[in-house]
Amino acid sequence: MTDVAAILSSCKAMLTGHFLLSSGKHSSQYFQCARLLQHPEKAAEVVATVADRIKADVKAGKLAVDSVIGPAMGGIVVAYELGRQLGTPAFFTERNDEGVMALRRGFEIQPGEKIIIAEDVVTTGKSTLETAEQIQAMGGVVVASICVVDRRPADAEEPFPWPLYAALRQPAVLWDADACELCKEGNTPAVKPGSRKVF
Ligand SMILES: [Zn+2]
Repeated sequence: MTDVAAILSSCKAMLTGHFLLSSGKHSSQYFQCARLLQHPEKAAEVVATVADRIKADVKAGKLAVDSVIGPAMGGIVVAYELGRQLGTPAFFTERNDEGVMALRRGFEIQPGEKIIIAEDVVTTGKSTLETAEQIQAMGGVVVASICVVDRRPADAEEPFPWPLYAALRQPAVLWDADACELCKEGNTPAVKPGSRKVF
C-alpha cells in the first residue's frame, strides 16, 4: 500500500516544527503540497490512492464522473492528475476581478455534467464550497471531492453533502497564539511557513 505520509515527508511537503499560519493560529505541522506536485511521479502515486477508490466506486455503480475541476492554485495540478488517471477532462476555477471563484478561459459545463472537485488541502472546505456554488450555478452536478490532505480538525462535521476522498487524513492541531503548547514549552518562536527559515 502506498505510504502517502512517507512520500509527503520525503519531498518536504509535510513539515514538522512551530508554525504561524495565515489564520494567526500556531501549529506543529504544515503541508506545502506544491512540494509534492513538483515531482510528477510522486504526485501520480499519491493521487492514484484516491483515483483507485473512485474507479472502484464507478465500477460498482456508486459514482459517475464526467470531469474534474480544481480551484486555483492548489487544485490545478491535482485536478489535472486525477483527470489523467480517470480519463476525463480536467479544468480549473480562479478568482475573477470581483474576487469570485469563477470558470474563465472559455471553460464550459454541460447541463447535468457530473463533476469532481479536486484540492490539495481541505481545512475548512471553504474553497471547495465556493467552487461548488459556481459549478451548480452553471448547471453542473458535484458528485465528489478529493484532496491530498484532509486537515479538518478531528471533531469537524462532514463538510460537504457529497463524499470526500482524501489521500491522507491528518487532522490539524491548532492553538491560539496565547495558548500555544509549543510557545509554552519555550520552543523557538513560530515561523511563517513560507519564510526562508523553513524552506
Ligand atoms: Zn506557538
